[in-house]
Amino acid sequence: MEQTAQVKTSAGRLFMVTAPSGAGKSSLVKALLARDASIKLSISHTTRAPRPGEENGREYHFVTVEDFEASKANDEFLEWALVHGNYYGTSRVWIEEQMRAGNDVLLEIDWQGARQVRQQFPDVLGVFILPPSLQILAERLNKRGTDSQEVIAKRLKGAGAEIEHATDFEFVIINDDFETALNELNAVVTAARLTCKTQAVRHRQQFIDLGVPV
Ligand code: 5GP
Repeated sequence: MEQTAQVKTSAGRLFMVTAPSGAGKSSLVKALLARDASIKLSISHTTRAPRPGEENGREYHFVTVEDFEASKANDEFLEWALVHGNYYGTSRVWIEEQMRAGNDVLLEIDWQGARQVRQQFPDVLGVFILPPSLQILAERLNKRGTDSQEVIAKRLKGAGAEIEHATDFEFVIINDDFETALNELNAVVTAARLTCKTQAVRHRQQFIDLGVPV
């Protein structure tokens, strides 16, 4: 209990980025992290099979359903969800360690997980990435060339359900032009670091020296 209170007044900011499949979320997050190495990306646990090129411990911790369920029963996940038939979850211990260390942390999770995180971390900042249109989303999914029409149709249907939750988020970025969207995501992170509350924690002594009430 005490530990959670300490974590919640951390100097680190918690961000979560959510989007329908094909909106470009992972590419944007990857580019953001390349620009700003001080943001730590949470590596989720999942029961889905690795895609070609994915490595255990890099994109995800790939685990069995049995292992996932055991971790779930041990309350090891800050949040978890069943997405497209597979389990996904965020490690509670890892997040709490990062927050205690004062690091900024980013979660790439779906809307169900985002809702659970918000209940535990009311200061979390949620960013929803929208495609410019459903037609462009369909074109982007088709261009990937790796999925059958059936899978694409399923993802498009899922996209509508995900998009319905965009209004739960503090920020919405429309990923039309990639560089613009990246600058906008960067701007959200920068602005979050400059809130009075965060600055007061990060620069406490300076605030005191300047006579700012803390
Ligand atoms: P993919 O299998 O394509 O990598 O991810 C499928 C979906 O699962 C995406 O919407 C992604 O944001 C979501 N996801 C990935 N990791 C987590 C997680 O730890 N928790 C939750 N709730 N969703 C996740």
